[in-house]
Amino acid sequence: MVNPLILQYHKVTSRFEIGGTRVTPKQFEKHIITVKKLGYKNLDVNKLLEPSKSFHQKSVLFTFDDGFECVYTQAFPLLKKHGYSGAVFIVTGFIGRENDWDASFGLRFRHLSEEQILELDRSGWLIGSHSHTHPDLRKLTDRELEAELRVSKERLEDIVNHEVTAFAYPFGLHDKRVEKFLASVGYSIAFTSRKTYTMRLKNPFSVERQGVYLIDWDLRTKLDNAFPVGLFEFAKQRIINMFASLSSIARHDFRLMAKLAGMSFRTSKIVKSSDDKNLEI
Ligand SMILES: [Zn+2]
Repeated sequence: MVNPLILQYHKVTSRFEIGGTRVTPKQFEKHIITVKKLGYKNLDVNKLLEPSKSFHQKSVLFTFDDGFECVYTQAFPLLKKHGYSGAVFIVTGFIGRENDWDASFGLRFRHLSEEQILELDRSGWLIGSHSHTHPDLRKLTDRELEAELRVSKERLEDIVNHEVTAFAYPFGLHDKRVEKFLASVGYSIAFTSRKTYTMRLKNPFSVERQGVYLIDWDLRTKLDNAFPVGLFEFAKQRIINMFASLSSIARHDFRLMAKLAGMSFRTSKIVKSSDDKNLEI
């Protein structure tokens, strides 16, 4: 039995950004070619939900957090060219808009539009939620937490016209309360960042992924979870994650940024609307 390779990307772009969570298109294609040469096939996500979780073949899942437009313009055609699909986790409050929530030093990137999300879905990609506004979910009240999970789920279901049950935690941050709320809202699987050097897959609400960054040219280091390579990769991911969140001026004041972006955050009733400006959560 071989453990699946679950990779966590953010942006695939040649454009400069602070933080180093992007990879270049050239680098990304090199990663795809590496796993292809090693014989990895697309991972069937349903396998992760099976209690026995028997992976008889080498399988890979390319996942992308935040739902930036470059997932459609860069990652999608490259993966398609080599016979792979992917999974994208979307911050639904910013669909079709610029990343006001994460605008490090004024560098703006556009998010996927509804049409692009639909096309990815129809091409066999897994479409999942990454919350509505990208907060640290652990810090929300029960009411706010429920709204973040439910609103984003419904918004995506309206676009793809089928049930959406996959989630990825903003910043990879979660606890048992968040996991419980996810299950009660109707999600069946949730992805996080790497938390151990052995990569745990047992809990479907805490599926660990290997972060891939600008400094990762050779993907083969991600295939070895044994000591000491696994420990080194784990430490590297922790440091880059820390740097990425420090470099983002918006992340710790997300509510303020969301308000500036025109969204209301009063914790009242949920009003379903295609116009985010009218959305109350
Ligand atoms: Zn994110």
